[in-house]
Amino acid sequence: MAVSGKLFIGARQVATANSFQAFDPTSGDPLQPDFSAAGLDEVDQACELAWSAFHEYRDLDPEIRARFLETIADEIMALGDELPARGHAESGLPIARLTGERARTVGQLRLFASELREGGWLGIRIDPALPDREPLPRPDLRLRKVALGPVAVFGASNFPLAFSVAGGDTAAALAAGCPVIVKGHSAHPGTSDLVAQAIVAAVRKCQLPEGVFSLLNGNAHALGGALVGDARIKAVGFTGSRRGGLALMKIASERPEPIPVYAEMSSINPVLLLPHALAAKAEALGSAFVSSLTLGVGQFCTNPGLLIALDGKDLERFIDSARTALGEVQPAVMLTVGIHSAYEKGVAELLDHPKVERLARGPEGHGKHCGRGALFGVKAEDLLQHPEVMDEVFGASSVVVRCADEEQLVDVLEQLEGQLTATLHLVEEDHAMAARLIPILERKAGRLIANGWPTGVEVSHAMVHGGPFPATSDGRSTSVGTLSIERFLRPICYQDFPDALLPKVLKDDAPPRPRRLDGMYRVD
Ligand code: NAP
Repeated sequence: MAVSGKLFIGARQVATANSFQAFDPTSGDPLQPDFSAAGLDEVDQACELAWSAFHEYRDLDPEIRARFLETIADEIMALGDELPARGHAESGLPIARLTGERARTVGQLRLFASELREGGWLGIRIDPALPDREPLPRPDLRLRKVALGPVAVFGASNFPLAFSVAGGDTAAALAAGCPVIVKGHSAHPGTSDLVAQAIVAAVRKCQLPEGVFSLLNGNAHALGGALVGDARIKAVGFTGSRRGGLALMKIASERPEPIPVYAEMSSINPVLLLPHALAAKAEALGSAFVSSLTLGVGQFCTNPGLLIALDGKDLERFIDSARTALGEVQPAVMLTVGIHSAYEKGVAELLDHPKVERLARGPEGHGKHCGRGALFGVKAEDLLQHPEVMDEVFGASSVVVRCADEEQLVDVLEQLEGQLTATLHLVEEDHAMAARLIPILERKAGRLIANGWPTGVEVSHAMVHGGPFPATSDGRSTSVGTLSIERFLRPICYQDFPDALLPKVLKDDAPPRPRRLDGMYRVD
């Protein structure tokens, strides 16, 4: 299938007068073809189609939506090798990584299909009437969750497949019954174009209203702003920079009808090396840390950007091991020229910082726009005076915090902003210290990890990929796993409704689904 260079407004492929280009990050050279850029007219048309599709789509039998998600997965696989090849050309990510990411993308879609069939997402609660209750009777109360409305999804630069056009946000919103309009990331418009063709084919095969999906490409912030500001959009999913996320949150909150923005923004994912674990396996931890730090050239939101430990000879052993390992990791090209220059700027600021020591650098790269690993050190008392040292540097850069004692380590934890993850390396002798730290970490992060590394996020039912601000805009949510569907649903209660007017899933003779009946959980 050829990259069209067009916008996808429902079933139509649309060309506009304004265009932009994709670039090969390895050379900085433009790629073919040129891409149409959406303007205000196209936002209006896509929103109109999405709004009119919403009324039919939200009420469809969940089985139809499940088959739709599975058909999208099939159509994505049918794109064949062309999809990872285009993703590679636009992002510099290796083909093997993109092939794995495609598997994750279709896996997410199929997981949401099974979630739709299981039915727990409907959140059904039934409190039968108690007409004889004293002093007042209780009415019949029945609750289910319903779709919010059309959702704007912003594709992420660092996951051209799994967090872009048919990624986690789109899968969750479509599963919930919300039409989706994707603002494609300007770094990989051709990849977005191919995936959009797969989704449009699935819409047609499943005979769904065309407005269920649109893709608006473009590289002007005004496009995303107009989409979030449109009254027909009822929620937003975003992964990217803190600045971008905050800008969209502001637009959403200043609308006549404010809407939720689920933005995943900034996280440095602290890793704590507790003393006995550090003494027992400093060298192994040092090399494993570098593998996590440099995975994907460090371009993961779960990248371990801060290590915290008690200062001393065991920490030096860890640093020596990390230095050796980092020296062996050849730098690779970063996702975009802009992301590479932001990384270089962040590393330069740490190199120039009077309180920061340079511990190690990866080797120089041979090509352009390569992200060379960087490891820094800072004393805890200096970090507490200079919190800017904890600002996210997106890429393979990390800071080791040297704490004089446990009290100082606790002070550092208290200074942390909200995080996606926090990791503890520990052995049994560290459990008492860990028990003191875990309640602090529970306030700070969405996922706590023991003896592992934060990179690598399982897509499952119990996963939380979220956390307090600025990790996300709403720490009550996750953007990975089946729980992420909750972001695009709201509860509605039907009081004393005649059975004939109740939604199918709440009627007396509805097929059994997981529910809470008079307060008790039931599955049969
Ligand atoms: P970004 O600049 O935040 O852009 C993400 C998306 O939001 C793009 O579609 C962008 O549109 C749009 N956008 C950004 N600012 C906007 C605004 N003020 N109004 C309307 N739309 C706006 O993120 P990025 O391009 O992926 O990377 C830049 C930096 O983000 C990185 O260097 C890194 O620091 C951070 N980042 C973090 C994560 C993470 O997971 N924590 C992931 C990726 C990136 P355009 O296409 O028009 O720019």
